[in-house]
Amino acid sequence: MDLDCHRLESLLQADNPGDRESAAIVIGQLTQVLRELNHAYYNLDEPLTSDEMYDRLLRKLDILEAEWPELALRDSPTSVIGGEASTKFTPVAHRFPMLSLLDAFSYDEVTSFVERVHVQYPEATFIVEMKIDGLSVSLTYENGLFVRGVTRGDGVTYGEDVTENLKQIISIPLAISERPSELVIRGEVYMSYASFDALNQSLSLLGDKVFANPRNAAAGTLRQLDATVVRDRALSFFAFEIQHSSNSFSNDSSMLAWLSDVGIPVIPDVVLCHSSKEVIEAIESIERRREALPFQIDGAVVKVDELYPRELIGATSKFPRWAIAFKYPPEQKETVLLDIVPQVGRTGRITPLAYLAPINLAGTTVQRATLHNQGYIDQLDARIGDTVLVQKGGDIIPAVLKVNVDKRPADTERYTLPKTCPACGSETEYVGGGADLYCTGIDCPAQLVRHLTYFASREAMDIAGLGEKVAEALYQGGYVRSIADLYTLHEKRDILVEDGLIGRDKSVDQLLAELERSKSAPLERLVTGFGIPLVGRQTAQALVKAIPDLGRLAEVNEETLASIRDIGPVTARSISRWFSLPQTEHLLERLEKSGLNMTSDVTDVRMPLEGQTFVLTGTLSSMTRHEARAALEKLGARVVGSVSSRTSAVVVGENPGSKAVRAQEIGVKSLDEDAFAALLATYDKGES
Ligand SMILES: [Zn+2]
Repeated sequence: MDLDCHRLESLLQADNPGDRESAAIVIGQLTQVLRELNHAYYNLDEPLTSDEMYDRLLRKLDILEAEWPELALRDSPTSVIGGEASTKFTPVAHRFPMLSLLDAFSYDEVTSFVERVHVQYPEATFIVEMKIDGLSVSLTYENGLFVRGVTRGDGVTYGEDVTENLKQIISIPLAISERPSELVIRGEVYMSYASFDALNQSLSLLGDKVFANPRNAAAGTLRQLDATVVRDRALSFFAFEIQHSSNSFSNDSSMLAWLSDVGIPVIPDVVLCHSSKEVIEAIESIERRREALPFQIDGAVVKVDELYPRELIGATSKFPRWAIAFKYPPEQKETVLLDIVPQVGRTGRITPLAYLAPINLAGTTVQRATLHNQGYIDQLDARIGDTVLVQKGGDIIPAVLKVNVDKRPADTERYTLPKTCPACGSETEYVGGGADLYCTGIDCPAQLVRHLTYFASREAMDIAGLGEKVAEALYQGGYVRSIADLYTLHEKRDILVEDGLIGRDKSVDQLLAELERSKSAPLERLVTGFGIPLVGRQTAQALVKAIPDLGRLAEVNEETLASIRDIGPVTARSISRWFSLPQTEHLLERLEKSGLNMTSDVTDVRMPLEGQTFVLTGTLSSMTRHEARAALEKLGARVVGSVSSRTSAVVVGENPGSKAVRAQEIGVKSLDEDAFAALLATYDKGES
């Protein structure tokens, strides 16, 4: 159709028809033109006209349809485009069950399937087709118009009505060229590799979670409540079966040919076979072509072509007996490990990424694979220069499975992850003795977005409007390099508004107001927001109750921290370590300067050492045993004469007795005089 400007203008200029017949013609023309414009815009990415012209055409159609509602076409662009699906999908009872297929993993199983069928029906022929890795749907056409699309659901009783979303898929025709009174077909909605890559790229730019594979992406997209999202993500469709038709057919291949004739795309390259040998050859041939396909397949379907014997052969409650699905193993290939590069994730976790000589696997070029952690590298003994076996399964990042030691070059070395963070240079460590290495830097750029998001979360400082997207935008825009930078954002208000990174005046001012408000948040929220490893909200509460002043909290030593109720030795070490980092000191200074609340009124009403039992041994230089006992008791502790496993700590002075040895034997904590003095000092100040 000719879509030049004159034609569009004349369509717009034409007076609204006064009679039903001319109205029907104009509505038909407008519908057709808009559909073509949509196709060019959304699917070919080649707009044929201005947005303004498009809107005017759509409005004109809208007005006419309002005047002649009975003339509106079912596939009208006024309802399809931007048409919002309901807030949830309606369950629809299946009129025809959508059974799945029995899987076969070996050629023996294929052979026995063919033999079984031939016993019952010796003349049976088979068709072999690709098994598209997507989402099965059932489509209903009435008098040639697409009226309903349903997901598999449980396959037998109910599926979900996703008609509005399916209407956004360009390869599902809204009208077909023949008009049987009723046609129900089954097919697969899938996402091509190209659409999948584009989608994941844009998701990751927005800081959203990416999809692991095209099938997940297709499923996630089809269940979107907003049909416009479905439109933008470019799903595709192949039919593979007629479930019900007012036309009659004698075999599958003629059904597929008919579908194709009326404009419904069917799975391409179907092969007709007569023996198990031919079936296996067809399966092998599909597997050979698998790499070059623009979409993901996970097997080959073998089914009896003739429809009559299908009835004869029948079905179990779950599977038809006249078809099987042959599953291909995940693709594996050897390639050279060019380099191992440690990556810092948002959580600070450092993962070794393998850079590979490019290979084609499962339809995509693979150049990187995960090596998980140091333990995995050691287990494989993977070295730079090695030839490795790579597999692409359902995961987005392929895995390195094995090293081919025979192909190892002469001068390789064992690989060890670095002791410093590749992003910020801070030390790395295995937190809590786990397998994963973490960066310890609080301002590590690789972790900053996560830190900011957590800092602002409801759990911590509760700053509305500072979610991951905004944090990412602020980071990308160069506005924020540290948590402390949040509190200088107001100085850049006008530039921020100008930039439009996080919206205009209103959004920026709201965020600034929230930040201002957060300055007076209770101290425990601030401490939570620091994201100190092992310190969540509860531990932060315990800390702040015991030591209600951030300045002092930053100075107490590990032993004192460990003496606080609800804080164990490992957490104490983590806290002490975090406060001793130079960047922490810098952060606290800046936050204080910005006027954040750094003290708490909510002290523990219980005494700080209540419930704890101490034992004294040896001589202390600064106080008598009696004074030491009094000081402890003043803080709520009990002082007893002998060490047991229930003892909280033993204070060890000069020339200690057997109690010190006993404490060590049974693993009770010992405090030397300095640590003891620090403990008392912490709480002494706390009382003032
Ligand atoms: Zn780092």
